[in-house]
Amino acid sequence: MSTPDLMNEIAATDRTFQQEGGEWVGKCLICSGPLRFDAHTGEGATVEHIVPRTAGGGNDLLNLGLAHPACNWEKGRNWDRRQARRRRADPAKYAALVERLLAERLRRWRPPSAEC
Ligand SMILES: [Zn+2]
Repeated sequence: MSTPDLMNEIAATDRTFQQEGGEWVGKCLICSGPLRFDAHTGEGATVEHIVPRTAGGGNDLLNLGLAHPACNWEKGRNWDRRQARRRRADPAKYAALVERLLAERLRRWRPPSAEC
């Protein structure tokens, strides 16, 4: 599946996102700030793996969210396991962040078939 297709699928299952013309408009999973992206190209947002692939996270929709490129980058830089070891980040804090994002994704969950 191409990245824009995947992003469309994530947006369709996230209640904060609505389609406006050729764009999806909703909220960043990480900072909850306004986020919009082009439904055709995916430009404007990035796919966030809540449990990182390096920590065994998969591609199921409940492990995926949409985030600002900067938020996604910041989470990866500060929190991904391999990097965190180097930076001596607090693993408990990282686990708490992942828990929070998983809970937020579940809270926003919208069944894929629902029309808005
Ligand atoms: Zn953000």
